[in-house]
Amino acid sequence: MFALVFVPLERWIALRQQPVFRPGWSTDVIYYVAGCFVGKFTDAISFGAMLRIRKLSGLDSSGVVAGQPAWIQFLELVIVADFLAYVFHRALHQYGWLWRFHRVHHSSRRMDWLANVRLHPIDKILGDCFQFIPIFCLGFASAPLLAYTIILGFQGFLNHSNTRISFGFLRWIIASPQFHHWHHCDNPPQAYPGAYHKNFAPHLVIFDRLFGTIHLPADERSMPERYGVPESVPTGFWGQLMYPFRSSNWASRVSCQVERS
Ligand SMILES: [Zn+2]
Ligand SMILES: [Zn+2]
Repeated sequence: MFALVFVPLERWIALRQQPVFRPGWSTDVIYYVAGCFVGKFTDAISFGAMLRIRKLSGLDSSGVVAGQPAWIQFLELVIVADFLAYVFHRALHQYGWLWRFHRVHHSSRRMDWLANVRLHPIDKILGDCFQFIPIFCLGFASAPLLAYTIILGFQGFLNHSNTRISFGFLRWIIASPQFHHWHHCDNPPQAYPGAYHKNFAPHLVIFDRLFGTIHLPADERSMPERYGVPESVPTGFWGQLMYPFRSSNWASRVSCQVERS
């Protein structure tokens, strides 16, 4: 479904001229298909388990959260989920044993909508647990949860896309493609000091601003020259799955230190 939206969009307002079938495309398609089938199956199991836990624990019986108007719950969800995702994403960059898994996501040398799905399963599972267990326990109603999943899932694809969509002044509030492209930058650090390991939040800009990890040039057209990581990561799907478990990658913590601006 996302291909129908983003493939034409990336042709129409391309940030860079690059083919649809760019290097790494076939690997990311496997992630996409695996996410559609295996991912949805595990999501359904965990969703059912969460509902069960919530029911047994009585956390939703009070209805304090679920009793609010849906749009307020939606706003609360965005803020709570964004904070949790910020904390986890920052940890992925800060701790070597987590960075091993997250490096796979950063191994894309080209940015487009499909680069969004390149996530090692351990990265995805740990992230989902860290973000969604507290959210479920808080007892949000199903409708705002569904709206959150659809709208903000779309934002993930948009922010990786090879498009020059302008957010205008909203880019200082909402995470934009420019915001997330800088998160993936592999520019020479001498030329772009302070651009490495910044912009962790997926939806909003506030937490990076609050905790001093933001890199958002005033010029909205300013984008990284290169993407990726200095290390050599396998280009194939199975190679990437096994990559974090290879002992030679265990100790590489140097490149994942988070700097504050
Ligand atoms: Zn990252
Ligand atoms: Zn990303």
